[in-house]
Amino acid sequence: MSIQSAETINIDKYSDRESLSLDACRHMNSDIEALISATREGTSMIFFYIKVSTSTPINTLLPISHIKDFTKHLLEVLESISLTQTGLIFSCEADGFLLVLPAHDRAVASKIPIQIASKFSAQFTIHNRSLTVKTSIGASILPKDSSSIEELIRLAMLSAHSAKESQRSFKAYSPALDEISKRHNLLLSGMSTILTQPLSSEGQNIQMHFQPKYSVRTGSIVGFEALCRWNHDALGNIAPGEFIPLAEKTKLITQLTRVILRKTMLEISENSKLNIKLPVAVNISALDLMDPTLLLDIRALLYEFDIPSNLLEIEVTETSIMKNAKVAAHQIENFRKLGLSVGIDDFGTGNSSLAYLSSFPVSHIKLDHLLTGNINHKRTEIIIEAIINLAAKLGIGVIAEGVENVDTLHKLQDLSCPLVQGYLLGKPKPRSLALSSMLEDFTRVAGYLNQSKLLRSQ
Ligand code: C2E
Ligand code: CA
Ligand code: CA
Repeated sequence: MSIQSAETINIDKYSDRESLSLDACRHMNSDIEALISATREGTSMIFFYIKVSTSTPINTLLPISHIKDFTKHLLEVLESISLTQTGLIFSCEADGFLLVLPAHDRAVASKIPIQIASKFSAQFTIHNRSLTVKTSIGASILPKDSSSIEELIRLAMLSAHSAKESQRSFKAYSPALDEISKRHNLLLSGMSTILTQPLSSEGQNIQMHFQPKYSVRTGSIVGFEALCRWNHDALGNIAPGEFIPLAEKTKLITQLTRVILRKTMLEISENSKLNIKLPVAVNISALDLMDPTLLLDIRALLYEFDIPSNLLEIEVTETSIMKNAKVAAHQIENFRKLGLSVGIDDFGTGNSSLAYLSSFPVSHIKLDHLLTGNINHKRTEIIIEAIINLAAKLGIGVIAEGVENVDTLHKLQDLSCPLVQGYLLGKPKPRSLALSSMLEDFTRVAGYLNQSKLLRSQ
């Protein structure tokens, strides 16, 4: 036999925790120590952590009693891998396995992740449910990465986790992964701290920046998009592209969205005091779309700040709608009933189907910057033109984001794209700066726009 299945751990208990129980670790450690002692001295050992995932969480697909069979089945599949050396395999949780092998031959060891992935490429049938299983494998090496068994397990798990995050099937441990994980932990603890402060607190280092949206017909500003910025005490400015996905993964996003909405509403009410009545769009995440209390909270905030609902817009991405189209459609409908505009962000990047536009009561779509930036390619231009024309027929507005140069702006103007946004026209800025540069921006943007068309349409 090539792999020995050591005592399986936690097999009776399904949990989505990633950690191993202390008791389990003790058993595992002594088995691994025995394997190391039985192996020729000086041989390095390789620790593979195999993280298994199903397209839908397993505990929502199978009853708890059947999950045990699923785990057993996966273990059997792993045991069937043919190896030239003896190793140990442990079932750590329902969705994780540890494989420890002497790495006599690096070339052979490096093929193991490929063998494992191919074993899991077929569909599994457990209790008449057909499941597609994906594996993310991480590896650490004794003594290169650490001399401690516990640490090697952690590093292999960390690498598997990172492989899953980056949608790769395999990742070997490197110290950079630890740095990333430390940074994530710092960001998460910082975010939790911010979110436990009272919602009205001004001390939170979250600030909203505002990027103008322009009418191509008149050259004037028709509204703003609110984009959040976080100035972390120790790490400095953190881009939303880094902390929003973390907040989404840890579900802190629902609280963060509340902070963002409150801050934005406060700024809208400041605009109103200056008699500036331009709508501001707030980005919300997939989890927010599924959150039935968000609608009530938005309603309460509009009331508290005395803001008419037409001054608030919501941007949701195509991919977040597709996570649960039915619930999303319902939430969007409720937003619209409240009087809010709702736009589909990043349109044209996901599995966009123009057909579904008619089933979502959205007010506008936002052409993704990747489409806008490629408008010079004939095929992209044709797609953009088709989207603009179809949206016009459906009575849905279109805004092109990511307009970075005058050529792109002119192309969009030629295709009758009604609204535009991008660095060429105005970068995201704190509200006071965005307002103070409005006149100057208007003059500049009017200068860019094709004057003959501007005059004709006025
Ligand atoms: P997004 O909603 O697609 O926002 C547009 C992003 O493109 C912004 O980046 C904006 O600064 C940037 N941008 C604007 N004009 C141009 C341009 O001409 N060229 C290029 N290349 N980029 C341009 P930012 O502010 O870094 O935000 C990144 C993403 O983070 C946003 O993408 C959105 O998905 C998310 N995000 C930002 N603020 C929030 C927020 O308050 N809540 C939520 N849930 N997500 C947010
Ligand atoms: Ca957006
Ligand atoms: Ca976008």
